[in-house]
Amino acid sequence: MNASFYLPTRVFAERGALVKHPEFLRIGHSALIVTGKKSAKLCGALDDVTALLNASGITYTVFDQITENPPLLTCYQGGKLAAECHADFVIGIGGGSPLDAAKAIAAFASNQGIEPMDIYNEGKRTKPSLPIIAIPTTAGTGSEVNPYSVLTLPEGDKKKTFKCANSWPRTAFVDPLYTDSLPYATTISTALDAFAHALESYLSPKSSAFSEAAALFAAEKLWDVLSQYPDEFTPEMRDDLSVAATAAGMAISVTGTGFPHPMGYSLTMLDGVPHGRACAAFAGEYIDYNEKTEVGKARIARFAAAIGATPKVIKTYLPALAAVELSFTDEEIEQRVSLIEKAGNYVNSPYILTKTEMRDIYRKLFNKTKK
Ligand code: NAP
Ligand code: ZN
Repeated sequence: MNASFYLPTRVFAERGALVKHPEFLRIGHSALIVTGKKSAKLCGALDDVTALLNASGITYTVFDQITENPPLLTCYQGGKLAAECHADFVIGIGGGSPLDAAKAIAAFASNQGIEPMDIYNEGKRTKPSLPIIAIPTTAGTGSEVNPYSVLTLPEGDKKKTFKCANSWPRTAFVDPLYTDSLPYATTISTALDAFAHALESYLSPKSSAFSEAAALFAAEKLWDVLSQYPDEFTPEMRDDLSVAATAAGMAISVTGTGFPHPMGYSLTMLDGVPHGRACAAFAGEYIDYNEKTEVGKARIARFAAAIGATPKVIKTYLPALAAVELSFTDEEIEQRVSLIEKAGNYVNSPYILTKTEMRDIYRKLFNKTKK
């Protein structure tokens, strides 16, 4: 049995996590706080962090320029700012975008003088990143417990993941309270992202006994909430979504993700579909293709049984929740395939898609009216 697991991140996952464990925020003298435009303030996390830093005499600068699907170049600017203000650690507060950005900024901060694309080049990025603290305000990406930093390249239509040995956050404070302010649609989309992580990790050939346990723990909680299709999210539901998203993040830290992720990136980058909904749009095809293999079929059956569903219900319900209604011409499909065909994710499931099948999937889902 393979039961390997590695998690260098200390995780506090409870209401009041930060205020209950302030000593783990005090890891330097000067912090760069990385956030999006509004949500870190809106949800109360920024105030909690700055109050604790002020009380401890730790100086800080707030860099609130992170937009969704964070651009590499904004992270490069953030790295310069971190160096200018002599930051010795980075605190990311937000959804996956600010958390992923914090990892890249921490790398640029200690590797001043490199060019933006050099972040992907270990030969040029020679110094270890600044230590990172992650405080998620969405319940989705699991970025707080993995080393991945998904960045938008300067051309603007492609994402590329950066990771290095020290882009794991040192500590994650996962407080569901910070997700209370999430709008309904963002809550659904981010929960769909976490569910995609759980499913794609569970099917991955790289999975281990512990990543599978984390994936099932996550999927069960997410399904409990999502399958109710609630009118609003109660605090108990927020608690479940939050811990589930972190567990699914742990699962993908072992395995990475499968083909719904790159295929979804094209819908996010070119069509503005939020990340979680974009991935969930491909859940039905992901299950159908993987069921063509013996291993895939058995794993999907186990996964569905563990969460009290059937493969048929999962593959119908997730794309329905994602509600992605797009229509592409053959030329537009070609453009999308060329953007995502080289991703490494295709080998990460029992069934390995061909380029023709990528085209077929886009055509089946999104070529209903246009010719
Ligand atoms: P996000 O892009 O970080 O944020 C989406 C929106 O939600 C933003 O408008 C943000 O506002 C708002 N928001 C965040 N928290 C809020 C809160 N508590 N209350 C109200 N509004 C809030 O969303 P995300 O889905 O968490 O992250 C997606 C990104 O993560 C993508 O770039 C994706 O590629 C990446 N990702 C990374 C991993 C990984 O393993 N590292 C995994 C999956 C996805 P502000 O702009 O004001 O903050
Ligand atoms: Zn994802």
